[in-house]
Amino acid sequence: MKDFNINIIPCLNDNYSYVISVGRDALVIDPSESKPIINFIEKNNLELKFILNTHHHFDHVGGNLELKDKYNLLIAGNENDKKRIPGIDIFLNETEKFVFNSHEFQVINTPGHTSDCISFYVKSMKSVFTGDAVFSLGCGRLFEGSPNEMWKSICKIKSLPDDTNIFCGHEYTMNNAIFTKAIIDNEAIDLKIREIKKLRSNNIPTIPTTIAAEKKLNIFFQADSDEIKSLFSKELINDEEAFKMIRLAKDNF
Ligand SMILES: [Zn+2]
Repeated sequence: MKDFNINIIPCLNDNYSYVISVGRDALVIDPSESKPIINFIEKNNLELKFILNTHHHFDHVGGNLELKDKYNLLIAGNENDKKRIPGIDIFLNETEKFVFNSHEFQVINTPGHTSDCISFYVKSMKSVFTGDAVFSLGCGRLFEGSPNEMWKSICKIKSLPDDTNIFCGHEYTMNNAIFTKAIIDNEAIDLKIREIKKLRSNNIPTIPTTIAAEKKLNIFFQADSDEIKSLFSKELINDEEAFKMIRLAKDNF
């Protein structure tokens, strides 16, 4: 039986933070700012115990210190990012499990957007929290990592079970869909664009998406497909080269 809730908290312009509650205990992933988190915690009479950060960018850790000041909580993040994550107490890596009220948060290294980006896979919740590594129909910009690193990170996420929900750090879906349509104009993407429009006009997040849905429509997930490769190069190219071209096309879009 489901004993948890995953709550999407819109922050700043287009960020999403996630408050996960099990009973009255709660943790928050990537609090961009403190106010919307405090409002949600108070309104629902929860006890905020942990902050989990996927990476150090301000729009993911902006609420760390204010929340730590207000609540008796601990902050967890990649041990390699300990100098950049404000208030960090718990140093995570791929071999250690973070357990929250019997739910295991598995750390997956997903570098590319930054050198130390991590994702949290929670099998018991059929969910993965990807920060800015993977978006619905897109992936993060490469600020610190190489295309090869990012492609590897995407392959790790892609290898999770198809019915895994993906909770990412931003509402970028429409923008990514428009890019996708410019590359492969088909019925599936038109249908998706209509869906996104409907949700967004009612102020509903397009998140979560799923691994299955991204495999079908996310062009960055398909850098290993011959069909996609042929759109970017007449010559035979490998997956990494194809990924690099797709990323570059999006950067210049
Ligand atoms: Zn970021």
